[in-house]
Amino acid sequence: MSKRDYYEVLGVDKGASERDIKKAYKRLAMKYHPDRTQGDKDLEEKFKEIQEAYEVLTHDEKRAAYDRYGHAGVDPNRGGGAGFSGGADFGDIFGDVFGDIFGGGRGRQSRARQGADLRYNLELTLEEAVRGKSVEIRVPTLVGCDECDGSGAKKGTTPTTCPTCHGNGQVQMRQGFFAVQQTCPTCSGRGKIISDPCRSCHGQGRKEKTKTLSVKVPAGVDTGDRIRLSGEGEAGDHGAPAGDLYVQVHVKEHPIFVRDGNNLYCEVPLSFTTAALGGEIEVPTLDGKVKLKIGAETQTGRMYRLRGKGVKSVRSGSVGDLMCKVVIETPVNLSAKQKELLQQLDESMGSGDDAAKHRPKEKGFFDGVKKFFDDLTG
Ligand SMILES: [Zn+2]
Ligand SMILES: [Zn+2]
Repeated sequence: MSKRDYYEVLGVDKGASERDIKKAYKRLAMKYHPDRTQGDKDLEEKFKEIQEAYEVLTHDEKRAAYDRYGHAGVDPNRGGGAGFSGGADFGDIFGDVFGDIFGGGRGRQSRARQGADLRYNLELTLEEAVRGKSVEIRVPTLVGCDECDGSGAKKGTTPTTCPTCHGNGQVQMRQGFFAVQQTCPTCSGRGKIISDPCRSCHGQGRKEKTKTLSVKVPAGVDTGDRIRLSGEGEAGDHGAPAGDLYVQVHVKEHPIFVRDGNNLYCEVPLSFTTAALGGEIEVPTLDGKVKLKIGAETQTGRMYRLRGKGVKSVRSGSVGDLMCKVVIETPVNLSAKQKELLQQLDESMGSGDDAAKHRPKEKGFFDGVKKFFDDLTG
């Protein structure tokens, strides 16, 4: 389904100021808020669209990303993506909006609260994170009651305006000279009362349910990335918009590879003989084993770079490298014969300056040590 342009959704032009956007949003939210549209699904979708446009266009970074890349720049289904970061500042704007609608003055009203955002921790293996995966997750949450369409009132009845606060959700209490606004004790600030509660949800408008959702994890995600599923959080209070669900990615430790950004690192054991004479060894990659040429006289700890064998970035699409560190393995469980051969090899390298020819590092090291002690004793 193609998405409508956010500016078009709010009916503002591209250069609109934040104030204009807020004004346009308020106007539309008053018209299309679920409280006013009584469960009309199409209008509810429209309201979601308005909310999404508002959230992006009033967030500097998101707006910039949207202006540059369009919907792809702020696609909430992309892991990490352009950095969707939490429930935005809806609380504030809602206070304003309801203040306008219900004439309740400047006090924040607690009626029709948006549903809470939820967080789901998703564990992935490195392979799954690198290749992407569709997963089914089960999330315990609150969903709107289908029996009463979230109103909390018994089917066929509607909530009535609270007689105490006349729908304001707030009452004025006199304390000496001062008038104090307080949440209405009769309706707990909702402005409406339910005389005949829905039996299925006991008047709550929401019910506990474990939802099964299928999540498309894009290839290349890493620990710390999160995927936002818009509107999949808890259902709102009495028909208010639902919160979002954040799927937080955690990649398990891998027995061979360590990931750093888009690069992978691994250690490969190298035999003593191959290190000295050179040769070919097999090294692991995420796509299977590949051959790696080892030069003669390779020292332990040497790093080989295998270009393009790392991870493809979920953001830029560029591919990292695989860094293989070779570690020389000292032979173990030697037979008497083998020990003798090593002894012979060692003797063949001579001593003093002859030996230094074969072990330049050792020579340099001991020269350094000698100088250190000479300097000490002065
Ligand atoms: Zn119900
Ligand atoms: Zn009331």
